[in-house]
Amino acid sequence: MGGYGSGRWNWHNKKIQVEECYKWSIYALKPYLIPGFSGASRWLQGEREIASISFYVQGNDYPTAVRLKYTKYSGSKNEIEIDYRVNLTTTQLAWGGVRYWFICPLQGCQKRVGCLYLPSGGKYFGCRHCYDLTYKSRQDGNWERHFFGEMALGLQREYPGITWRDYRDLMDGRQTRRIRELLLIRALQQWQKYDPYEGYLTKEQLLQQSGLTIENLKELEDKLNSKTQTLEDFKTKIEKLEASMVDKEELCAAIFERLSSVIDPETGVDVVRMRLIEDLVADADGRVVYKFRPSSPLCPIAVPLSLMIQEAVASVSGVTGQDMQIVGYIQAEELTALLREMLEDMGYSS
Ligand SMILES: [Zn+2]
Repeated sequence: MGGYGSGRWNWHNKKIQVEECYKWSIYALKPYLIPGFSGASRWLQGEREIASISFYVQGNDYPTAVRLKYTKYSGSKNEIEIDYRVNLTTTQLAWGGVRYWFICPLQGCQKRVGCLYLPSGGKYFGCRHCYDLTYKSRQDGNWERHFFGEMALGLQREYPGITWRDYRDLMDGRQTRRIRELLLIRALQQWQKYDPYEGYLTKEQLLQQSGLTIENLKELEDKLNSKTQTLEDFKTKIEKLEASMVDKEELCAAIFERLSSVIDPETGVDVVRMRLIEDLVADADGRVVYKFRPSSPLCPIAVPLSLMIQEAVASVSGVTGQDMQIVGYIQAEELTALLREMLEDMGYSS
């Protein structure tokens, strides 16, 4: 890609002093390095505007170049329109992320630099190597200290202990041991600030946001605990009930077993096979409820048969009481009442 400007112009006789330059550092530009962003920067010398520099950040997903447009007022008050592009490049940072650099746009340079300068008499921004900049204070030997010291001062928070020398090396992209150290310190700083639980609420934040007090929270916790206890109790009850169900099933099976030996004299078949016993259930205490349906509404032996059935049921171990209902029989109600009386006389409680 062709650069702009003509390299060294007529600077041979007189070196430019950096104070006479418009300086643009990548650090100053960094917040605006968003593709599509456009802004402007005025170069003032006292009250006088030497240039108004407008810039446009190019790139799709990330910035790739900055397009510069400005008008320069030459000494003779002629305006010169200047429009060109400064490419950007990146280097990987130790803690992740990237650092942006300008590529010096001057012809044949292509140096990766952190600062570009526009001399008051120049047309294009370029690096200090190209412009061979000198500084006012160079004569006293402290020019670098002054120049980079001020910039280093502004970076103390990000790079604690950074000196003007470090800043100069950083700007020149020198990978010295000291620079690596600074980058490591910076990385550690970032790492310490990193909170993996960021975004989750602490108990205190939760209380604050929900309007609850610590007492409310304790109350809720207690409620939850007691609910858990109730659930435990309930489970125990269910287990007991299930266990007794098994017992009851066994009891009913034993009763049927016993009843299968009670023979209906009229047919010679046992009452279970005759299906004369219906809806037999036992509760956990051993109380048995069932229906006796005589084989016909006028069965002559219904009364003695019902007695035989009741005696058989009562003889099964585990049975503590019984309630027989006679159904489908003429005078069933009377018979039921009569049987109750008889049972009570026999010593069975109903
Ligand atoms: Zn250069």
